[in-house]
Amino acid sequence: GFNCGIVGLPNVGKSTLFNALTETAAAAAANYPFCTIEPNVGRVPVPDPRLDVLAGLAKSQKTVPTQLEIRDIAGLVRGASKGEGLGNKFLGAIREVDAVLHVLRCFEDDDVTHVEGGVDPLRDAELIETELLLSDIESLARQKDGLVKRVRGQDKEAKVRLELLERVLPVMEQGTQARALDLSEDDRALLQGFHLLTAKPVLYVCNVEEGSAATGNALSQKVAAMAETQGARSVVISAAIEAELSTLDLAERREYLETLGLEEPGLNRVIREGYNLLGLLTFFTIGPKEARAWTVERGATAPEAAGVIHTDFQRGFICAEVIAYDDYVRLEGEQGAKEAGRMRLEGRDYVLKDGDVCHFRFNV
Ligand code: GDP
Repeated sequence: GFNCGIVGLPNVGKSTLFNALTETAAAAAANYPFCTIEPNVGRVPVPDPRLDVLAGLAKSQKTVPTQLEIRDIAGLVRGASKGEGLGNKFLGAIREVDAVLHVLRCFEDDDVTHVEGGVDPLRDAELIETELLLSDIESLARQKDGLVKRVRGQDKEAKVRLELLERVLPVMEQGTQARALDLSEDDRALLQGFHLLTAKPVLYVCNVEEGSAATGNALSQKVAAMAETQGARSVVISAAIEAELSTLDLAERREYLETLGLEEPGLNRVIREGYNLLGLLTFFTIGPKEARAWTVERGATAPEAAGVIHTDFQRGFICAEVIAYDDYVRLEGEQGAKEAGRMRLEGRDYVLKDGDVCHFRFNV
């Protein structure tokens, strides 16, 4: 599956956020195992209003949303790249995630100590990014030694990799994150093989005080501006509110959100943005028993999508019957779409689009 890791300095609200995410998920899905897998790993449903619309049209008995795995990665402090604190363990855990949710403290509270003194999310962000960058630089230096040896042994692939490494290392040593390097598509693909921490996509999560949850505050605005210069994104959330929401039932939750002027829990936005960050798309399978959302990477073909449901579907793939979400809704279901000629038969080269409603035909 795909996963996001929550990172940030101590006391910025990471665990509060993680617990709210997993508790809300558990409360919302009594009939489905969205749960904490390990103390710091949880699966959460990806909120998608389209699923309910489709289930309504098809009169499906139940809906099954697609999920995202979230990891709470605690323990980063200044000096982590030198092994301070839980430095190495922390960095190793980041290496395993596909995308990073970087929580920044944007709330003032004299009762909550800030490890770096005062509240300053831009400094905090830079501190963490620097630790990650230092770790990448060290890792590249190590990988370089290995590549040099292989190049001496006439390894052609190593030569190409070494050439790229020697090009990017000096730029990174000047302070450029791997994700911000100006590279061709081929080079970017090759760079993946170096497993760099700063190559992972980042979403900045601004944890603001309760009163600013709907609007953000001056600090979260600074973060938004910084994110924009990096081509990254940010969201505003109040971890304290999310923690409160996670203890309420659905009706109470709606009421509380209304009094706060919020349309939905901030967590929904975090999950959706995290999902986008990973370059994923959703397709649906709709039947009388269940309406279900599934996840594939953008660019996935029809057989690959079928394989997410079952490996047999991929192996024996014949074709896919596909209805675009908008057509399904406009024509009020499968029958209507069929009659209007909006159900397409697609072969193995078809690249899935977000929102496709699919039936796969396959040989067993
Ligand atoms: P972590 O170390 O980043 O995991 O931070 P925690 O989630 O454990 O939070 C550290 C402290 O900050 C706890 O006492 C939380 O109750 C408090 N805290 C977290 N989020 C908020 C917030 O939005 N507002 C306020 N006032 N306190 C918060």
